Amino acid sequence: MATKQFKAESKRLLEMMVNSIYTQKEIFLRELISNASDAIDKMYYKALVEDQLTFNNEDYFIKITADKENRTLTISDTGIGMTQEELENNLGIIANSGSFAFKNENELKDGHNIIGQFGVGFYSAFMVADEITVITKAWGSEQAYKWQSHGADGYTIDPADKDSVGTDIILHIRENTEEDSYDEFLEEYRLRTIIKKYSDFIRYPIKMDVKTQ
Ligand code: ADP
Ligand code: MG
Repeated sequence: MATKQFKAESKRLLEMMVNSIYTQKEIFLRELISNASDAIDKMYYKALVEDQLTFNNEDYFIKITADKENRTLTISDTGIGMTQEELENNLGIIANSGSFAFKNENELKDGHNIIGQFGVGFYSAFMVADEITVITKAWGSEQAYKWQSHGADGYTIDPADKDSVGTDIILHIRENTEEDSYDEFLEEYRLRTIIKKYSDFIRYPIKMDVKTQ
């Protein structure tokens, strides 16, 4: 599929994230885990109203996989997933996201304080990733889809293969620069510390898998 453009305000936030005005890059993981948890909540509520669906606790979890060799960090969930249309509406446009709770340029300049108050959302992953791939299969849907973006240039959506319902967010972690180190986001100990700090209250299991070579 041809590359689609982000909406203007999404593009602005994306550029901020790519240029990473925040020092607390680690909060991207809080955002992705909270989205994964929200997606599982949606299955939980669906199970309350749909007779043919039972919520078995052991089927619902979040899994973090760091692969040092390929420089990828994957956040997987067994939540509700997204249809092609939802991918388009939820990840292509930022308007309905908590992310754009920013009010004016002054607040933006004081970015560090904003972090604590508002969720910065999915796009915060661009602080640490130069490519994001989302592979998702919605509940009740046969077809899975892949959303991919390198940042402000736009995104693509294509059909993909995925057996189970849920979402995999695959971050390709940036290479270290002279100013910034990103390798830490592939280190198990560091990831565990971040999860403990921000996601301790998440009510679904967070499993960790680290591949080293
Ligand atoms: P917010 O969580 O405040 O709505 P985000 O930018 O974090 O904003 O996410 C945007 C939207 O993308 C979410 O509202 C949700 O609809 C969708 N989304 C993101 N991650 C997932 C996921 N893992 N599973 C299902 N939907 C997701
Ligand atoms: Mg969110």
